[in-house]
Amino acid sequence: MELLERTEIKELISKIGKTYGTPLYVYFEEVIRKRARLVKSVFEGVNLLPTFACKSNNNPNLIRILYEEGFGTDIVTVGEYYASKKAGIPDEMIVWNGNGKSREDMNVLSNIRYVNIDSFEEYEQWMAFKRQYESVPEFFLRVNPNVDAKTHPHISTGLKKNKFGINIDDVSRILEKPNHNIVGLHTHIGSQITSIEPFEEAISQVVELSKRYNLRKINIGGGWGINYNGSELDIFEYKKRLIPLLKDFEKVIMEIGRYIIAPAGILLLQVEYVKRTQEKTFVVVNGGMNALIRPTLYDAFHKIMVLNPTNEKNVVDIVGPLCESGDVIAVQREIEIPEVGSLLLVENAGAYGYSMSSNYNSTLKPAEVLITSNGEAKLIRRRETYDDLFRTIV
Ligand SMILES: *Cc1c(COP(=O)(O)O)cnc(C)c1O
Repeated sequence: MELLERTEIKELISKIGKTYGTPLYVYFEEVIRKRARLVKSVFEGVNLLPTFACKSNNNPNLIRILYEEGFGTDIVTVGEYYASKKAGIPDEMIVWNGNGKSREDMNVLSNIRYVNIDSFEEYEQWMAFKRQYESVPEFFLRVNPNVDAKTHPHISTGLKKNKFGINIDDVSRILEKPNHNIVGLHTHIGSQITSIEPFEEAISQVVELSKRYNLRKINIGGGWGINYNGSELDIFEYKKRLIPLLKDFEKVIMEIGRYIIAPAGILLLQVEYVKRTQEKTFVVVNGGMNALIRPTLYDAFHKIMVLNPTNEKNVVDIVGPLCESGDVIAVQREIEIPEVGSLLLVENAGAYGYSMSSNYNSTLKPAEVLITSNGEAKLIRRRETYDDLFRTIV
């Protein structure tokens, strides 16, 4: 990240690390706002409701910044609804996604404006519920367009073999019968997608189907890929090829998480040991898959900056302190060997970082700090305590 090259930022981060301890997530307000505006600029001339996917990061302080930029939220659970409410998001700007909405949750979340329906069975359940509702949400049917997003299999969602959505023939069958309050179609084919073609293939199918049934609203999902170690989605190309398809819709909803919040956050870890074996050098840090599970779960690559390097450069594994060989932050990575006690900055950690963190090995979840646009550091989530860890034990 360019920002991290600046000396005053490095000094600030070093200070924050001392003040709040590590592992620590640090976010930059400036980057969040910049990325949010970039997303909106793609949709010029479109009546857009941008929503932020809370599953990528549920800190209400960050969601509130996005609300100020005109974003609603995309939620999957009641917990994410409460995160949205703490951030001040009105029910009219919330979209409810998910393939397993429970009957109980349907009661709790009945005031939400937009619901993406994942299956024919869910649609029938909503119809059974309808009678008890004061106001019925606007329903979108999630289409499974059978498109390969060419991303990691765990985060690919638009293939027939994936559990998500309704296939196109079944969508037609639902729409051909008299139906209630289905105002549009939805599609979301996966996450961390860096080429245009899968988006084009999926969205054009859904646009065509919308026109056939005269549906005036559409939800095109999210999934824009960022540059972890290569290239980012070309948003100018996206604008050129996809926005013309969307111009005629009365309303276009989109749901985006990673593209905005991943580059806005870093994870600070502290080096405990540089362990040299006959096979390898291990840089042992004080947080691993408990703080950031992406390298373990998806073989994800995160750039790493060493705050206090020695003169030696080498290929190392950067590993956490947990009792799992899979507890890694980076594998076979060439870095400047850090001094013991140095901070490591794990970049692009703002999305699916804290939100996927765990208490494995009875560790405490990290704290989160926001660096505001005027350069102040603000604690936005305190570190857990051991009391927190055992609060639910009876
Ligand atoms: C996860 C998800 C998103 C956001 O995905 P990103 O890759 O973070 O942009 C949007 N819509 C749905 C339905 C999702 O499941």
